[in-house]
Amino acid sequence: KVRRDVQRFDLNKVTITNDPVGNKEKILILTPMARFYQEYWDNLVKLNYPHELITLGFILPKSKEGNAATTALQAQITKTQKGARPFRKVIIERQDFEPPLASQDESERHKLANQKDRRAAMSKARNSLLFTTLGPDTSWVLWLDADIVETPPTLIQDLASHNKDLIVPNCFQRYTDDSGKLAERAYDFNSWQDSNTAQELAATMGPEDLLLEGYEELPTYRTLMAYMELEDMNDVRAEVPLDGVGGTALLVKADVHRDGAMFPPFPFYHLIETEGFAKMARRLGWHATGLPNYKVYHYNE
Ligand code: GDP
Ligand code: MN
Repeated sequence: KVRRDVQRFDLNKVTITNDPVGNKEKILILTPMARFYQEYWDNLVKLNYPHELITLGFILPKSKEGNAATTALQAQITKTQKGARPFRKVIIERQDFEPPLASQDESERHKLANQKDRRAAMSKARNSLLFTTLGPDTSWVLWLDADIVETPPTLIQDLASHNKDLIVPNCFQRYTDDSGKLAERAYDFNSWQDSNTAQELAATMGPEDLLLEGYEELPTYRTLMAYMELEDMNDVRAEVPLDGVGGTALLVKADVHRDGAMFPPFPFYHLIETEGFAKMARRLGWHATGLPNYKVYHYNE
């Protein structure tokens, strides 16, 4: 007799393969969202991975901006879920703490002095979202920021086909240059390979100090995926090993998170948030890989 109050899951049967569509693997797309962008939603809906295998999870801050984003998000969810290709499930969470910064503007966000508090808060938001949504049948977790407005519709299959523990595309930003021409530039500097200089700097730091990337005040000489020059710049499948990763778009085997890898909201080996996550995953035996020529695009404020 089958008991309804007992559910059994054999984690060995939750496959995580390079053919997730063929094996009907369930994926959880997780997005911390401070602002709602229609371009993000339209791009998400265009993903051609079977929507019945996709669960969406959102966490939004308890703030005026967060309220507005929640309203806009809910309207789009209602529309999509009534349509021809609804997602398997959608989970919306409101954060139980206020964001540390009053302003979410790009210049304010990126000030060095604001990094520790801001990224600690981001870590907690990501962890809350992860620990409340990861299921025993989840094969993959795709972290996708709310301001990623352009990815190939095949994003999930493309990334999963590499069969890597953590895999991260190169996050760029489109802009109009001085002559009025459409151009693009690197956006995310959190995907990198470590350097001796950074290691030596870290050795001189106190336990609470962070070794952040992308700041003149902290020259790390790490090799940034954003600026890597490969022999063949057209090979979108080219892979590089990474020590730190950004989270704007990041595909993770769910086993990595199930093993306990999360986003440290404190300095962990002088790293925090997504970069700390890559380090923690590494300590658990998992490896991060970058795709320098496979680009996704961040909104331009
Ligand atoms: P940046 O692009 O690295 O400067 O980081 P963002 O400010 O864009 O933040 C990364 C992601 O987290 C985006 O999807 C934001 O919408 C979202 N976000 C930013 N701050 C908060 C917050 O306080 N709470 C939550 N839940 N999400 C946030
Ligand atoms: Mn962003």
